[in-house]
Formats: sequence, structure tokens, C-alpha cells
Amino acid sequence: MDWQGQVAIVTGGSRGIGRCISLAFAERGVTVIACARSLDKLQEVEKEAKQREFAGQIIPMTLDVTDAAGCEKVVEDTAEKHGRLDILVNNAGITRDGLLATMSDDDFDTVIDANLRSAFRLMRSATKHMMRARYGRIINVSSVAGLMGNPGQANYSASKAALVGMTKSAAKELARRKITCNAIAPGFIETDMTDVLPDKVKEGVLPLIPMRRFGIGDEIAEAVCFLASPVASYITGQVLVVDGGLHM
Ligand code: NAD
Repeated sequence: MDWQGQVAIVTGGSRGIGRCISLAFAERGVTVIACARSLDKLQEVEKEAKQREFAGQIIPMTLDVTDAAGCEKVVEDTAEKHGRLDILVNNAGITRDGLLATMSDDDFDTVIDANLRSAFRLMRSATKHMMRARYGRIINVSSVAGLMGNPGQANYSASKAALVGMTKSAAKELARRKITCNAIAPGFIETDMTDVLPDKVKEGVLPLIPMRRFGIGDEIAEAVCFLASPVASYITGQVLVVDGGLHM
């Protein structure tokens, strides 16, 4: 399997799952354009890849994925500087939880913008280059919340379910150009996003997970690497659920 020379864009690469994905790619020899809103944490990830003497490298890039022009610029700059874009991982995501009855329009729109519209824009830009190269791997980080729903997350679940629909449409459009598009649906993973959950919620969830534990970012990263790898050439339009058995 030849990852050497490949170039990836990973959004939300500064921490949590995106950090693990970025490092896993770098370990395999990929040049990773790791994007997030602030540089400091990205630079720590860059340093870690260097210290661990990975074959690939992390290139930090500031990007707010809700900035339409910024999304296009990251893709164009990457293609211009590196001459290729093999992998796009739409990982950046946020929550603004609240019950449907009292959820504000702003909380709904903000989550849709950050989780869904951003992925659409980056896919639109990236596929132009991938189509020309007749190669590409797009992985959208969805969630089991998009498959099962979750109380208090109407906005988040809607964004993650929509990502699945968009993934499948893109897979159908792009298959003949040898571009695959798949989604990953993590269950409960130990990151800043789940850290803020009240203990009562965490304790309530554990009995529903057959493995009786939360996952870790590296377990998601390995699944992303599989779908992003050259050998996953006949898998497209799929949702790979990585959740310790929560949703089956
Ligand atoms: P996290 O909060 O630790 O990390 C989110 C990342 O997204 C950060 O790097 C953050 O900087 C970035 N980000 C957020 N808004 C952004 C914006 N506007 N522009 C650029 N970057 C932005 O969360 P995580 O748990 O690592 O989540 C990563 C992805 O996995 C998200 O899409 C999330 O919805 C999804 N997910 C997480 C879990 C979980 O249990 N942690 C479960 C299912 C799905």
C-alpha cells in the first residue's frame, strides 16, 4: 500500500479525533494539511509528528470551516503548493445541545453551518482537483447520533444524518472518476466534546454500549485510515460505524 507522496486535508486537526487522524496519516508518510481555527494547538501536533519521526509531516493551517472563502483557499493553496490532493477528511464539528422545543434558530443554523455546509464547500472545491487526477478519498465524520438520533441534539443529529446523504450522493457522482466517498460514524469517543457531558449522561450511556467503554480517537483514526487508503478502492457510499456495538 503506497501512501508516500499523498496529500491530505484534515479539518479540526488540532485536537480530539482530528488530531489522531492527522498523526495517523503522518505516520504513514502522508503530508497532512491540518486545519483548525487557531495555530497553537496545530503546531503542537506538528511538533509531535516531528518528534516521533513520522515519515509524513503535519502542516498547520488556520481555517474556520464556516468561512466559505477560507475553505476554497485551503484547497486551492494545497493543490498549488503540493500539486495534488488525495484525501479530504471533514472532521471539524461542534455541538450546541438543547431540547427541540427551546432550541434557537441560531443554535440550529450554527451547527448546520459548521458540521454540514463546511463539508459541502470543501468537497466541492476538493473534487475539482480529485476529478482531474482521477483519484480521491473523501471521508466525512458523521456520528451515530445521525443514525439513531439523540435527545437534545436535533441540530447535531440533523447535520450528521445530512452528511450521510451527501456522502452517498457524492459517492454516486464520483465513482467513475475513481474517487470514493465514505462516512465514519463514531459512537461515544473520549474527547473534549464528550468531556463536557454530565456524569449522569455518561453513566446512562455505558450500559447501552456492548463494550462498556467509550472509544478513543486512535480507534476512529485507524478506521479513517482504512477508508482513505489506496486498498479501499472498491468501498464507496458506506457508513463505517465505530462505536463498540452501540448501534447495530
Ligand atoms: P473536539 O471538540 O475535541 O474537536 C473538534 C475539532 O473541530 C477541533 O479541532 C476544533 O478546533 C474543530 N472545529 C470546530 N469548529 C470549527 C470551525 N468552525 N472551524 C475549524 N475547526 C473547527 O471534538 P471531537 O470529539 O474530536 O470531534 C471530531 C468530530 O467527530 C466531530 O465532527 C464530531 O461531531 C465527531 N464525533 C465525535 C464523537 C465523540 O464522541 N467525541 C462522536 C461522534 C462524532
